[in-house]
Amino acid sequence: MTDPTTTTDRSHREYGADALIMCDSLVRIYQVDQIEVQALQGLDLLVEAGEMIAIVGASGSGKSTLLNVLSGLDVPTAGRARVAGWDLLRMSHADRLAYRRSVVGFIWQQTARNLLPYLSAAENVALPMAFSGVRASKRAARTTELLEALGMGDKAARRPGELSGGEQQRVAIAVALANSPQVLFADEPTGELDSATGDDVFAALRSANTDLGATVVIVTHDDEVSTQVGRTVAIRDGRTSSEVVRRTEIDEQGQHRLIAEEYAMLDRAGRLQLPAEYRSSLGLRDRVRLELENDHVGVWPDAPRSTPSPAEQDGDQP
Ligand code: ADP
Ligand code: MG
Repeated sequence: MTDPTTTTDRSHREYGADALIMCDSLVRIYQVDQIEVQALQGLDLLVEAGEMIAIVGASGSGKSTLLNVLSGLDVPTAGRARVAGWDLLRMSHADRLAYRRSVVGFIWQQTARNLLPYLSAAENVALPMAFSGVRASKRAARTTELLEALGMGDKAARRPGELSGGEQQRVAIAVALANSPQVLFADEPTGELDSATGDDVFAALRSANTDLGATVVIVTHDDEVSTQVGRTVAIRDGRTSSEVVRRTEIDEQGQHRLIAEEYAMLDRAGRLQLPAEYRSSLGLRDRVRLELENDHVGVWPDAPRSTPSPAEQDGDQP
């Protein structure tokens, strides 16, 4: 493999070369009878190592399809997808197994799907390590460490049926983390839980991110979660449409302030989607006027067809 950093100068770097997760124009078409369903329609996404992000979108927008592709369960129809250096369109069967076993961890919405009902919490956590050939003594130590990190140390001997939904999801996070994956994917992990229990599961995902160093990608239809993560990516009709980035800033008084900034996604062909509120409040439709300024681009409603107002005739140029 050649390293693009050594062969090309920075301006010609490959798209997403520094990102841990890179999706470039990802397409997934399902064929049902004679009908094609385009679940992903040219989706672009970059995630840096160490991030914790949420992907939000209405039901049917393609969120689960995206996670199935990223976790190596499903193969996209076209486009490019790379996670931690693994090309998801060009993996052999053996690569795919190794990838799913040790590079990524997965948490499903249905609590029952994450755990084997006849094994204890500890046995569930130890199982993926056994598949990977981890020695028994190391397995036991890692199991204890993970269950304790997730606040489940005292319930290690219980079976899933003897745990609440939130506790089952915390054990599921421990299972997903067992082989120290670089990335944790969670598809609606709090979907079946009440909001207080959901908050606990979020706290557990956050600790997987901050304490254990996993990059975390959570899919949800719940906009509320956006307050819990650094970045929220919205997907619509199988494409990323906008992003909200949250960061804290220290103001003049030394107070921490949470800043949320909204971004639109500029696709690689230069297309941009304006939020619906912006379009309706300025009556932007069909055609808009663009102006290139020093440091930004102005977007105006299409010029009125009538005579210009006096202010516009005078102009605002000196
Ligand atoms: P979300 O998780 O955002 O609700 P999905 O990724 O599950 O959305 O689905 C996106 C679209 O693809 C939907 O129109 C859905 O009906 C369709 N779809 C998903 N999986 C399949 C499948 N296995 N076969 C056919 N169509 C599918
Ligand atoms: Mg889904």
